[in-house]
Amino acid sequence: MKYEAVIGLEVHIQLKTRTKMFTRAAAGYGHEPNTLTDPVVLALPGALPVLNKAAIDQVIRAGLLVNCRIADECRWDRKNYFYPDSPKNYQLTQQFKPICIGGSVEIELPGPARNIQGGHKTISLNRIHLEEDVGKLNHFATESLVDYNRAGTPLMELVTEPALASGDEAAAFLTILRATMQQGGVSDCDMEKGQMRCDANVSIRPAGSKTLGTKVEMKNLNSISFVRDAITHEIKRQTAIVESGGSVIQETRDFDGITGTSQSLRTKEDAHDYRYFPDPDLMPVRIDDAWRSALAATLPERPFDRQRRLMADYKLPYTITSVLIWDKRLADYYDTAVKLAGLDAPALAQPIGNWITNDLLRELGATSATFDEAAAKVTPANLVALVKLIAAGTLTSNAAKEVFADMFATGDAPETIADRRGLKTAPTNTDELEQWCRDAIAANAKAAEEFRAGKESAINGLKGPVMKASKGKANPADVDKTLRRLLAN
Ligand code: ADP
Ligand code: MG
Repeated sequence: MKYEAVIGLEVHIQLKTRTKMFTRAAAGYGHEPNTLTDPVVLALPGALPVLNKAAIDQVIRAGLLVNCRIADECRWDRKNYFYPDSPKNYQLTQQFKPICIGGSVEIELPGPARNIQGGHKTISLNRIHLEEDVGKLNHFATESLVDYNRAGTPLMELVTEPALASGDEAAAFLTILRATMQQGGVSDCDMEKGQMRCDANVSIRPAGSKTLGTKVEMKNLNSISFVRDAITHEIKRQTAIVESGGSVIQETRDFDGITGTSQSLRTKEDAHDYRYFPDPDLMPVRIDDAWRSALAATLPERPFDRQRRLMADYKLPYTITSVLIWDKRLADYYDTAVKLAGLDAPALAQPIGNWITNDLLRELGATSATFDEAAAKVTPANLVALVKLIAAGTLTSNAAKEVFADMFATGDAPETIADRRGLKTAPTNTDELEQWCRDAIAANAKAAEEFRAGKESAINGLKGPVMKASKGKANPADVDKTLRRLLAN
């Protein structure tokens, strides 16, 4: 019997807001323990929650980015449980009336080979709701200490349908979700800081079956590769159980990314255990079309939409676009440059893309600077000027590399640098150039003959000697023109 896996993800993402979900205490990471607190966060008697509108804005923006229907009204519920990470003994969440309903995320499956475009698949979402994060327990040898800095941080929970089929698909899902939320300014989604966390629900069933098998929930997965590994591990574990005649029990398991093993945490947990009920301190929130459309207007293009546009409008190859789209600042830099290139853009679009994704990124890596700061030295306008100098034959490709390195270091314009370093090609149509070309034809009679007989590429055998005679300074476009003129006679 063949088995197939079914996976659903629950992804928690902290929203980028200045203050907490129900109070004006600051939200933040890496501060002294218990400094981002106030009576509401600590649930001191009599403290009442006040809703942070910025958090609602952010979750609506998140929902619009992943095609959700934004509810007309959402409400707050108490999820009751007793654990020191929540001083209130309940968590405010949206069990019954979530803010975003349905939705979908387009993912790219791994391609058949590196750098080849993979297929795309649409993963349906169940909902996104808003809740508050909880505090953090730090366990030491003889005591445990609690830090409430994280408590009350606006947190969205995105729940997929059981629609993913492998660890690789889950990784692809989280990768594009993270990029989409980062580029939309919804969250920084830094998994190391816990800004994005994922639980994976995994089951198997006979291949082709329509009914769902018993699911196991994998918890505490704090990197995308751990999510992939945990799912792959769990599919193997369940398959082994079923193949040896056993059956999977519904439970929550903890995956250890370092050892690649998992252990059971708990086996029974039902919604009614939490005794959800509507919160009496908070009003429902009504959302109208004006609110929705004002936020929709603030959203960036989604990464794969942008990729399709760049490929269609500028004939950019997949390899270049698949580097650009993952960082909004990088993609914006490209768009700015191509627009500046103006009417020449179709011809220059690809060289501009090559300079950005190869040379600029390589130089930035070398200084390990962030794209933002270091790239500012090479402005889009100067990059376009460089590409135009190459296209006009004023700079050979070797000279251009030298000019670029200088641009990266100084931020000067390429013309200035080329003049300063004497890197421009020789002026056009000089007698000298014509003489070099005649010499090259005389010294390479065979190549000349082949070219005249129709072998186009043979001209390259003549260009090399001319460039050499000019010490690399001849304008390649003029060399080409002159050689063709002389060979035509
Ligand atoms: P629970 O009530 O246990 O929280 P939900 O129905 O709310 O379960 O689903 C939680 C997550 O588990 C969702 O992402 C959903 O797609 C996924 N899921 C539900 N049933 C299965 C299953 N049989 N196999 C895999 N994933 C599942
Ligand atoms: Mg659930």
